[in-house]
Amino acid sequence: MITDYAARLHAVLARIRAAEQRFGRPPESVELLAVSKTHPPSAIAAVAAAGQIRFGENYLQETLDKMTELAALNLEWHFIGPIQANKTRSIAERFAWVHSVDRPKIAERLSAQRPGHLPPLNVCLQVNIDKEFSKHGLDESEVPAAAWAVAALPRLRLRGLMAIPAPDPEFVAQRKPFARLRALQERLAAGGLELDTLSMGMSDDLEAAIAEGATLVRIGTAIFGSRA
Ligand SMILES: *Cc1c(COP(=O)(O)O)cnc(C)c1O
Repeated sequence: MITDYAARLHAVLARIRAAEQRFGRPPESVELLAVSKTHPPSAIAAVAAAGQIRFGENYLQETLDKMTELAALNLEWHFIGPIQANKTRSIAERFAWVHSVDRPKIAERLSAQRPGHLPPLNVCLQVNIDKEFSKHGLDESEVPAAAWAVAALPRLRLRGLMAIPAPDPEFVAQRKPFARLRALQERLAAGGLELDTLSMGMSDDLEAAIAEGATLVRIGTAIFGSRA
């Protein structure tokens, strides 16, 4: 029901605001991306009606169908899933952000295919912060060279880094990979790159991510319920 979605959205926003306060972050310095993959347009519309504008999706064709259905709502779409090189055109044409750029070749294609009438595509580099858990993302050692290469592309705007650490029930352990991602971002900034986004934290670890400097958390289950 619509009221359930609104209640869960507001509960997540309350968790974010509480974590900002607890960890000394400025109020409203952390943005919420609502991750709607596998959930129907009606659920997205209910969350949008409660005030949410930014939605994250992983599967291209599914998202294109939802975009068509929800066009009147003027939502901001973020692509956060693995990117196949032959699918970059639709991503470049239809999304505002891409969080999952994991190789320079993909970035080059997105830049070349970003239509001239749109603002530059906002991108984050996905970093493989937990190699045993995931095969997606750049190695930490590859990030500086990739970041400078992506920052030079004309139709992209490099905003920062994204990671998906292995799940861990312990708060102290959850913080460690997020701290590594932040340290990496700080090294890039010290080298002269202007970055403003750390895309990290999901339903079960958003507090740890905010403690370590997340500026955007990507939340699915806590808003939409579990995925089939
Ligand atoms: C599915 C997904 C999320 C949301 O995860 P939840 O645990 O449901 O909050 C966040 N980021 C990425 C990249 C995802 O694929």
